[in-house]
Amino acid sequence: MHLNPYGEYAVVMAASLANDWPADRAGIEGRVREHGMTMTFEETADDYAGTRAVIDSWLRVVDTDDPGERAELLNAQLAAVAAYPRLTDHDNEGWHLHYRDDYRDLPRVLASVISVGTALHLTTRGMHRLGRCAAGEEPGDPCRNVVVDVTRGGRQRYCSVRCANRAAVRRHRARESD
Ligand SMILES: [Zn+2]
Ligand SMILES: [Zn+2]
Repeated sequence: MHLNPYGEYAVVMAASLANDWPADRAGIEGRVREHGMTMTFEETADDYAGTRAVIDSWLRVVDTDDPGERAELLNAQLAAVAAYPRLTDHDNEGWHLHYRDDYRDLPRVLASVISVGTALHLTTRGMHRLGRCAAGEEPGDPCRNVVVDVTRGGRQRYCSVRCANRAAVRRHRARESD
């Protein structure tokens, strides 16, 4: 996977795993492939639970909206998994940078790609461009999806058109009952 300067693909991949958690290890690997990773992963017994733990730590970054706290959490994750950048040309991907040592298990590779990608996303696009769908702020609304805001204006609040519409209908009803 090439982490473009905006880190977008890695953050979108993390959100996809969080929003629609795969049923098994093959599901995780399939999802990671859909998001452009081509490397061969080494299979270990801990892959499924280990990747879930990576997503759960990442969700702590998502659920903090204070930029200082967000940076602190992310810095701790970077310190644990990222390494000095190095050039690599594995799997005919062309030369690109890895920000990790040369391990090949899913949890550690994903922890590194996701933390570095999130750091790039937040510092290039803005510290507030990550959160949960605003529809879920309404009591009783089931949506807990992560929203990665890569829009030009930086004002995306809903995970989907469906959630935006549901919230609009609610606002409309609230006005009518005044
Ligand atoms: Zn690579
Ligand atoms: Zn939603």
